Amino acid sequence: MDNAASRLDQVRSGIVKVCKPARRAPADVTLIAVSKTHGPEAIVPLIAAGQRVFGENRVQEAAAKWPALRAEYPDIELHLIGQLQSNKAEEAVALFDYIHALDRPSLLAALARAMDKADKRVPCFVQVNIGDEPQKGGCPISELPAFIDAVRAADVPLAGLMCIPPADTEAAPFFALLAKLAADHGLTGLSMGMSGDYETAVMLGATHVRVGTALFGARV
Ligand SMILES: *Cc1c(COP(=O)(O)O)cnc(C)c1O
Repeated sequence: MDNAASRLDQVRSGIVKVCKPARRAPADVTLIAVSKTHGPEAIVPLIAAGQRVFGENRVQEAAAKWPALRAEYPDIELHLIGQLQSNKAEEAVALFDYIHALDRPSLLAALARAMDKADKRVPCFVQVNIGDEPQKGGCPISELPAFIDAVRAADVPLAGLMCIPPADTEAAPFFALLAKLAADHGLTGLSMGMSGDYETAVMLGATHVRVGTALFGARV
């Protein structure tokens, strides 16, 4: 039973299963199928199985892949989950319905300009460097209050907070911290949890889980 429909079913059941003890409604959790590196031959079976929300981490790759698929399946929702360079802001605003890695003032300025120019507002998650890792993207926790104020002042729709916890450590404390930061700022959206820990993330309040490997198999 190793096909797209059964893998999708498994991940969805995993989400439903933890929603019950967490006293959450499964409908409040959006499953983003992360299709980076995978081509239409892997994506179409998931669409056929009912999945409509997809995530990509590179603008260029998404631009090559998704316009044709979206022409065929107009109700697709596309999320940019990876780092974004300011010079790709216009292309990102044109292509995506959500952006998950807003993490610095220069990118905020570029996105605000691109949204004005396109007359399209794309909701953004502010990525937080939740494990305080120097090599990782994300707004430092200490700068978060000022950055959230700046996003609100720039009239860029703020969907919530996003994080990628440090590798090879228990993710739960980082998810809990992100949930607390969101609550402190009156934000309800929480983009957290990947293939290895999406159930933990849902338990701790994730509204968007970003799942690749568990749906598509290993990336090549
Ligand atoms: C690739 C990626 C994911 C999905 O990772 P899996 O472990 O394959 O589920 C989630 N979030 C981001 C930001 C990614 O780049």
